[in-house]
Amino acid sequence: MTTRTGPVFTKVALLGVGLIGASMAHAMRRGSLAAHIAGYARSPETRKRAADLGFCHAMHDDPRAAVRDADLVALCAPVGAFASLAETIAPALKPGAILTDVGSVKMAVIRDVGPHVPNGVHFIPGHPIAGTEHSGPDAGFPELFDGRWCILTPLEGADETAVEQLKELWRGCGSRVETMEPKHHDLVLAITSHLPHLIAYNIVGTASDLEQVTQGEVIKFSAGGFRDFTRIAASDPTMWRDVFLNNREAVLEVLGRFSEDLSRLQRAIRWGEGDALFDLFTKTRAIRREVIDAGQDTAAVNFGRNPAKPRS
Ligand code: NAP
Repeated sequence: MTTRTGPVFTKVALLGVGLIGASMAHAMRRGSLAAHIAGYARSPETRKRAADLGFCHAMHDDPRAAVRDADLVALCAPVGAFASLAETIAPALKPGAILTDVGSVKMAVIRDVGPHVPNGVHFIPGHPIAGTEHSGPDAGFPELFDGRWCILTPLEGADETAVEQLKELWRGCGSRVETMEPKHHDLVLAITSHLPHLIAYNIVGTASDLEQVTQGEVIKFSAGGFRDFTRIAASDPTMWRDVFLNNREAVLEVLGRFSEDLSRLQRAIRWGEGDALFDLFTKTRAIRREVIDAGQDTAAVNFGRNPAKPRS
């Protein structure tokens, strides 16, 4: 690995300055990774708020102005907005620039953005596996990517120097970096992220609909497990709508497997097959241990909540 003497990029443009874009700006500033960070947001409110928070050196109301002379352009808006953003900025991209994104799906992004990428611009799709249920410029913070994976899905024949430069940026932001085939990324994320979000949206929806249990009781007794789903189910509706519409195939594939396994559990409960339940729950407890050992979570009691309070 080379030792860096200056910033990784002279000018970075972030198209979208919500949770991920703002966090990238904070992390790049923390690591002195970019000499100039230009931001773009579509609404005057978000631009004003981002300007007040000051994580970008300049905020623009035109994405073409933001990307002018940028060595790195990162699409940080919801995935459904990428095609039109890419089409708009294409003529303004600097030859030799890297165009990347942070979208939660990769095949659809390549489909939507790829055709607009001018010759001489290096398109390297990416996805930081880090997030919270909060959105907007205020949600960003410099440590978001620390110790988290960032997956890059370079296309066949991608420029190795450009890929290495982008990896260096993500490492500077605190991430561990891995490269993967885009189709495989979509399948892995369908099971590790998209399906859990779908389950959370569904269970919270079901609970709010259950006639024999009042809404007040659902909230009052939520510490029984429900509240952990409510955190995930509070995630941004626009982003998650776009994820499911753009990773349909992989989500439906894992959803099929999930439904079969759920039916098996239903049968085990119906027929009193305690051993089957016990064996599965023992296996899943071991997986939780592996997640903690891999540094993807802490073993804090109650997920680190209210440590001083006794458990009720
Ligand atoms: P966010 O906090 O809601 O911010 C979205 C940003 O995009 C805002 O600046 C918003 O500006 C702008 N935007 C929204 N719609 C747009 C449109 N149609 N055209 C142009 N700009 C638009 O979202 P986020 O959580 O940062 O997510 C951004 C991307 O990161 C998504 O592609 C998502 O898949 C990916 N991602 C998210 C997470 C996560 O946990 N949240 C994790 C990894 C990757 P306005 O406020 O002006 O609308």
